Amino acid sequence: MEEKSILIAGAGIAGLSAGCYGQMNGFRTQIFERHDKPGGLCTSWKRQGYTIDGCLNWLVGSRPGDNFHRIWEELGAVQGRRMVEREEFLRVQGRGGKVFIVYSDLDRLREHMKELAPEDAPVIEEFTKAARTCAKYDLPVDKAPELFGMIDGTWFLIRNFPFLRLMSKWKQITVQDYAQRFSDPFLREAFPLVANLPGFPMAGLLMILAWLQRRSAGYPVGGPLHFPPSIEQRYLDLGGQIHYRAPVAEILVEHDKAVGVRLADGTEHRGDIIISAADGHATIFDMLGGKYLDRKIRAYYDHLPLFPPLVHVALGVNRLFEKMPAHVVYPLDEPVTIGGRQQNHLGVEIGNFDPTLAPPGKTVLKTLFAADYEYWKTLRQDPKRYQEEKERIADQVISLLDQRYPGLAGQIEMRDVATPVTWERYTGNWQGSMEGWMTTKKTFPPFRMSKTLPGLKSFYMAGQWVEPGGGVPTAALSGRNVMQIICKRDRRTFVTTTP
Ligand SMILES: Cc1cc2nc3c(=O)[nH]c(=O)nc-3n(C[C@H](O)[C@H](O)[C@H](O)COP(=O)(O)OP(=O)(O)OC[C@H]3O[C@@H](n4cnc5c(N)ncnc54)[C@H](O)[C@@H]3O)c2cc1C
Repeated sequence: MEEKSILIAGAGIAGLSAGCYGQMNGFRTQIFERHDKPGGLCTSWKRQGYTIDGCLNWLVGSRPGDNFHRIWEELGAVQGRRMVEREEFLRVQGRGGKVFIVYSDLDRLREHMKELAPEDAPVIEEFTKAARTCAKYDLPVDKAPELFGMIDGTWFLIRNFPFLRLMSKWKQITVQDYAQRFSDPFLREAFPLVANLPGFPMAGLLMILAWLQRRSAGYPVGGPLHFPPSIEQRYLDLGGQIHYRAPVAEILVEHDKAVGVRLADGTEHRGDIIISAADGHATIFDMLGGKYLDRKIRAYYDHLPLFPPLVHVALGVNRLFEKMPAHVVYPLDEPVTIGGRQQNHLGVEIGNFDPTLAPPGKTVLKTLFAADYEYWKTLRQDPKRYQEEKERIADQVISLLDQRYPGLAGQIEMRDVATPVTWERYTGNWQGSMEGWMTTKKTFPPFRMSKTLPGLKSFYMAGQWVEPGGGVPTAALSGRNVMQIICKRDRRTFVTTTP
């Protein structure tokens, strides 16, 4: 078969995945990445002997045998990698000494919640039963939904009807609103912190609980320091080519057909098919000059909410946090303003589950705060004030943590603050968003965005900007699906291999 060429912008998980499946299917692919390493948002960085894990708190598909696990195997991402499946997902510490523990095991979660609030038993039974039903379904990911015909659609409906019915019911109510059904004041406050995002639907939370119950939302030891490089290696082994420090400035178009890319240094590369797995806004409005969009796409960028950008504080502490859970949320007696927003809680991730993150006897702690993009964008104009604000936040977080863990302030060996503009600078993501379009009632499936643009031939998009809800598995699936669509249009049978 004639070897067609595909050029891909972006070596995040979606771009790497598109590249791998392109190579498996006989295309000659090249990836152009603006940064000097693979992974995009799925990244980590080293500071003073500590590794700061910027992603991969949980990886859907960590369980061998699950559908998503097969995709990770095809991408060479999980072979030989130890997965940590935690007993607890999250712990919320109450003011009066009460503790709400989100156990991965649904029976344990249900009994624990009933002990906390016996009067709320019917509500607790209702949502844990729904999560249990969801956990029975390992949704098929083999075929891109865009390629579903009548028969596929009917089969999908018949096989997954109870699940789909649950989803359509539970997406109507947000986690915040559902929490109001608890009569216990502590649960009313603590429950929304499990998915503390405005407008996040209960259906999304049920899916998280279902993956935890299936033991398929684990943490890959080594984190993003090793995870994207193993997919990059798979891509190179398949014969792909990656160019780093190669930002795509423009997608070249002739007669409404994408024909290549122009890099920021002016060099041009030609290809038969172009995929952008880079930021959606930059792709549509900068690389293509806003020439290929319709009212629907314009409305997404004007109105759909985004996952908030983050202020990410990492601390290297000369201390062990043995037997501590991986993620604890504390209420703050006095709200504090961090990152341009009032914060009422302090969530701490304790990296004691991965010995590769810190030297022996030491631990990385992380706290994340939803932040205000404009605040940071403006502050960045003044490098001195920007730096001072980062230092102030680190001091503030250390002081808050010292109240919880006395002596901690004197044990800090490393401090690192990343802001929304850090993410924007390194990954190009619009407004520094951590995960693209927010999961809401509106953007929850069956809502779908097109992977093509109106009027533009030979061009596709992949990744979190065409997959609301984002996430690492979705990005990998997006790259796989886009290649299935290309194969179908090119009259090729889509094939996969597993190393
Ligand atoms: C703090 C944090 C924690 C997270 N935790 C989890 C988690 O636990 N589990 C989970 O599933 N997801 C998590 N996510 C979300 C997940 O990381 C993302 O949704 C996913 O990695 C997005 O992948 P992507 O390939 O679609 O996009 P990106 O990762 O944004 O990749 C796009 C790539 O394109 C490159 N690029 C941009 N512009 C250009 C250009 N002009 N030319 C060339 N290259 C360009 C970028 O540098 C980048 O490498 C987290 C995200 C953050 C920020």
